[in-house]
This record gives sequence, C-alpha cells and structure tokens, in this order.
Amino acid sequence: MDTRVVGILGGGQLGRMLVEAANRLNVRTAVLDAAENPASQVSGSANLRSHVTGSFKDAALIGDLAKVSDVLTVEIEHVDTKGLDAVLSQGIVKHIHPTPQTIRIIQDKFRQKQHLIKHGVPVADSREVTSVKDIENAVAEFGNGFPVMLKSKTLAYDGRGNRVIKSASDISQAISDLGGGPAKNGPELYVEKWIPFQRELAVMVARSVSGNIVSYPCVETVQKNNVCHVVVAPAQIDGTVQQRARKVAEEAVRSFEGAGIFGVEMFLLDDGSILLNELAPRPHNSGHYTIEACYTSQYEQHIRAILDIRRSIMINLLGSGSATSDLESSVLRPCRIAHETTGASVHLYGKAACQKGRKMGHITLTADSMPQAAALASKILGDDLDAET
Ligand code: ATP
Ligand code: MG
Ligand code: MG
Repeated sequence: MDTRVVGILGGGQLGRMLVEAANRLNVRTAVLDAAENPASQVSGSANLRSHVTGSFKDAALIGDLAKVSDVLTVEIEHVDTKGLDAVLSQGIVKHIHPTPQTIRIIQDKFRQKQHLIKHGVPVADSREVTSVKDIENAVAEFGNGFPVMLKSKTLAYDGRGNRVIKSASDISQAISDLGGGPAKNGPELYVEKWIPFQRELAVMVARSVSGNIVSYPCVETVQKNNVCHVVVAPAQIDGTVQQRARKVAEEAVRSFEGAGIFGVEMFLLDDGSILLNELAPRPHNSGHYTIEACYTSQYEQHIRAILDIRRSIMINLLGSGSATSDLESSVLRPCRIAHETTGASVHLYGKAACQKGRKMGHITLTADSMPQAAALASKILGDDLDAET
C-alpha cells in the first residue's frame, strides 16, 4: 500500500501495537529501543535490518533511525527532542509527527500546563516550587489547605513523579522522595491544587496532517495508586458531559502542532465541569479498547494520520483471456490510464501469461474522500466499477 517507512522512537507495548497496525496496512516500521523490545518482536523480517538498538534519548541513534525512515513518530514522550530537531534541520527526514516542539512542551508537565492555560484550556492551579517555603506559600495561595499534589515536571509516568502532601510535616519528605528538586540538582518540581474529582475521564483525539481533528468517545479511567487499572468505554455519564469532555480534549489538541493521536486525561468534578489533567502526544493506555471496540483502533488511526493515508479503493487486475487483446483490455489499458491519474498506483506482478481470471496486478487509488476515490476508479474501469472492485 505504501512504500514509506515509519520510524518509531520507543518499542514498548504502545509501539508493539503501532507496529501491529502498520503491519496490517502493509506499512513498514523501524523501531529504536533496547534489544528485543516488545515492538521489534512483532515487526516483519524485512524490518529487522532497519531496527536501531539503544536509547531513544541518544541523538546519534535517532540519526540512525532517521536514515532508514521517511516519517518519525514516538510511542513515548521522554525522547531527546534536540536529536529530533537535528534530523529535521539536516533534512534526514522530512516529517516528524507530532512535531519535536509539541513533544518538548508536553514532556515537561508544568510547561504543558502553562501552554494549556495560554490557550484557554481549564487545568488545576499549580506553582513551580523549589523549597518547603515555596510549597507552604502555594498551599496558602490555593486556599484549600491540605492535601496538595507535588509533581516532577519531567520523566513522570504511572505516578512515579507524584507525591501526595497530606500535611505541612510531609513536605520535606515529599521533596526528597522526588529527588530533592533543583536545589539538590534533582528534577524540577511543581505543586498542584488537590482536585476532589468525581471521576477521571479520557478521550483519544486524532489530528490529520492538514489539521482535521476527530475524537473517540469519552471513557472513564480508574486509577489505583496513580496507575490506570480499568477503563470503561464509553464512560457511563450524561451525554452532555461526554460532549463537554470531547470538546475540551479536542480544543487542547488543537493548540499543538503535528499529526497523530493524542491521549487526553481529565478530571470530572461534582458540578459537571472538567479540568484537563495531562495529555500524551501518542497512543495511550486509555485507548487500548479501540482495538476491539472501534472500527479503526487508535494505533491504526495514528499510522494513517501521520502518513496522511486517506480513502482508498483497490482494483484487482484480473486477466480476461489469453489473447493479446485480452491483455490489452483487462490489464494494460487500465494501467495506462492509471499512470496518467493522480492518486493511482500500479502494481504489476510479472506473470508470464495472461489467463482468464488470473490475478495480473492491482491498482490502488487514494483520495481525500470516498466519492473522489470512486470517481478515479470509474475513470480507470469505465462502467465496470461495481463488477470489478
Ligand atoms: P501517567 O502514567 O498517566 O503519565 P503521571 O505519572 O503523569 O501519570 P498524573 O497523571 O499527573 O501522573 O497523576 C496520576 C494520577 O494521580 C491521576 O490519574 C489522578 O488519579 C491522581 N492525581 C493527579 N493529580 C491530582 C490532583 N491534582 N488532585 C488529585 N488527584 C490527582
Ligand atoms: Mg503522565
Ligand atoms: Mg496521567
């Protein structure tokens, strides 16, 4: 279907399911991660030569992945974005989705929050902090007392960068648990107002290269100890709240550049209002359900979005008989028209003899919409579209 190679930074379970979706679309993939990662295990043998073994935080290895790829994408946001900038500016790849700048903003959860506030997306109040005093001041400013949530700005996942501060006496322990903050050369921290949410919601949002945005239904996620345990799809909530959550998620994604799927985590409050917790520039745990529950999974949607794969029709070229005129009418003539048609790709199989009913090749048509693809098919097949597609 496509000759382009998608290079994926990260080969965990999300990368594995991206590779599975790419396999079904006959799109080749190359994975950058440690040896024998879950994603490279499931990619076809033709891809094995292309995988790059090592860290997605290593700019030189990102360069190696870029050399074998046409488009780069990520299954994790904790990558070296300067390495991504470099391969783009050196022209080693033309496309990275989403953009390195989007990944850079999102990978720092505090910077992500500032960006969302700037674009009018509702989020919990938070403050950058470096000391016990800063946290005490923030608690006073929030005006709700304890608890509050201390968070690492970067490298956070599964709550590993989070500490609940239940009282003033917990503050210094929480800072040291998270590595001490910048004063001790540890990760930078911020403190967030405690959100007494009724439920947690999530929406997967896809954005095309041209900027079209669509979202999946809103789901409920249930976290235990900061880790997602259960996802209920769709969330068993009022339809207007569903719509509100999708709108918040879509608006948030609209504020970032680049194509692909984004996972948006939100808090639903008792009054029906919604705050965005965080978003991820990639497939997300809360979107696994889409593999079985939706026509197009979040993984396939991501591959299609970043490659700008649109509507397509495939026409098998079946021989109509062994005479020269049969070869001409059933194979060569459609191929000639296809060669003159934008959006048509010809595949001929090199079979020696044309016989009635033999598969001699196929033509793939891609277009922005199904009617446009059908119009191309009619041009190539004349009136035979219904009979031969
Ligand atoms: P992920 O694995 O989703 O990337 P993470 O490590 O980035 O998670 P968060 O999403 O910030 O962490 O928080 C994890 C969980 O902690 C949330 O899903 C929610 O249950 C709880 N939580 C986070 N922030 C707050 C808050 N301000 N008030 C109350 N609970 C919170
Ligand atoms: Mg996170
Ligand atoms: Mg989270």
